[in-house]
Amino acid sequence: MAMLVENTIILSHRLIKGGYRLLTLKSRKIAPMVQPGQFVHLRVPSMTDAVLRRPFSVFRAQAGRLAILYKTVGKGTQAMESLRTGDEVNLVGPLGKGFPIVRKNNLPVLVAGGYGMAALYLVAQRARVKGIVFVGGKCADDILCTDATKTCAGAPWSFSPAGHTAC
Ligand SMILES: Cc1cc2nc3c(=O)[nH]c(=O)nc-3n(C[C@H](O)[C@H](O)[C@H](O)COP(=O)(O)OP(=O)(O)OC[C@H]3O[C@@H](n4cnc5c(N)ncnc54)[C@H](O)[C@@H]3O)c2cc1C
Repeated sequence: MAMLVENTIILSHRLIKGGYRLLTLKSRKIAPMVQPGQFVHLRVPSMTDAVLRRPFSVFRAQAGRLAILYKTVGKGTQAMESLRTGDEVNLVGPLGKGFPIVRKNNLPVLVAGGYGMAALYLVAQRARVKGIVFVGGKCADDILCTDATKTCAGAPWSFSPAGHTAC
């Protein structure tokens, strides 16, 4: 499938918890093409010294908008924190092969830790059947997307938080 370059506009940008932020972008071209598990390459506008884009999974995608869920770990993501509603952000995408479609007679089992869950939310949302999600993380703040994913596919998904210690 074609890869596109698009200037998107920030619709909202908010801190969720523990250094994780949700960035929602108005994307007319890339959002409708995204398959679960694909990612975008984002150019961080204020980083004049860095030519490389940063890759982020597409957390949510629907007509005209897409969202990424990111954690600040280095100077690129730190610079992203200052992005404001209305700012322009250049994206390349959708990239990657994505995950196979969940078929009706299969039991989907999703396993992720921290922002890895951002790559799997669309799998759950677009699956026709409910499944099981194992989420892990170093601490409670790393357990993400549980409420959003529980209600996917019309019925609650079973959740099994694994491997986190309170911190
Ligand atoms: C396909 C794909 C999908 C991804 N999806 C997501 C997602 O949905 N959400 C998300 O949050 N992230 C995601 N990531 C990871 C994300 O791309 C990185 O966290 C981001 O690029 C980091 O950029 P940065 O400039 O903030 O960090 P950088 O400055 O590039 O640093 C990255 C890491 O290296 C460490 N580091 C930097 N410099 C040094 C050094 N000199 N010595 C030792 N360590 C150093 C930093 O402390 C940090 O931990 C994804 C990555 C890939 C490949």
